Amino acid sequence: MNVIQPLIDLQDTDGQIRELEREARDIPQRKAQENARLAGVNASLEIAKNQLAAMQQRIKGEEAEAEQIREKVRGLKTAQLSIKSNKEMQQSIMQIEGLERDAEATENRALALAEEIPTLEKRVAEAQEKVDADKGVVDGYVAELDARLAEVKAELDALLKERAEKANAISKSNPRFLLYYERQRTKRWPVVVTLNHDGVCDGCHMKQPPFVEQLVQHNKDLVACTMCGRILYRDL
Ligand SMILES: [Zn+2]
Repeated sequence: MNVIQPLIDLQDTDGQIRELEREARDIPQRKAQENARLAGVNASLEIAKNQLAAMQQRIKGEEAEAEQIREKVRGLKTAQLSIKSNKEMQQSIMQIEGLERDAEATENRALALAEEIPTLEKRVAEAQEKVDADKGVVDGYVAELDARLAEVKAELDALLKERAEKANAISKSNPRFLLYYERQRTKRWPVVVTLNHDGVCDGCHMKQPPFVEQLVQHNKDLVACTMCGRILYRDL
């Protein structure tokens, strides 16, 4: 009778448990990555919006400045009504001309800046589109991950029960085997490996002395690799 077989069966279950535990650990990380990517896309949209708002603010500033100058011109024109001397009138006209040139230059700056607005608006629209599209994708993916995590947890529960039953059976027939397996399991994986036909341990790839090969021959007892301590068996 192959006394190692129950340990091999237990190891199969433990292998599945390890896989599922790894998946359960990975899922929150994958979710975090997706959400971080979405946060990046959202940040790009915020930047585009801020650039547009800053430009609109600059244009408003230029327009307000032009309006102030125009206001001053209106004041000067009203004041002209009470000017008596030619010289004063000359000065007032020159001053108004200067201010009107300033106002025009300021208005031209506002117009030049306004030409940038469609480009900035387009960037905002594109960034918004990307946010909307990515949000849909990320939400869908995150929902899939959540569903998978629930599945993994259910599978794990079932496997842990199965494992407990298998371990219990071995502890009744061969408690020493189980103890040895459990201790090795915390240090190396897999624990139970074949001794191949060249007499080499399939865990650490070290050639075993002849007596080990003889002991393993019929899988009648627990035989450990002299190098790594893994449990050896022969694939008969
Ligand atoms: Zn070994």
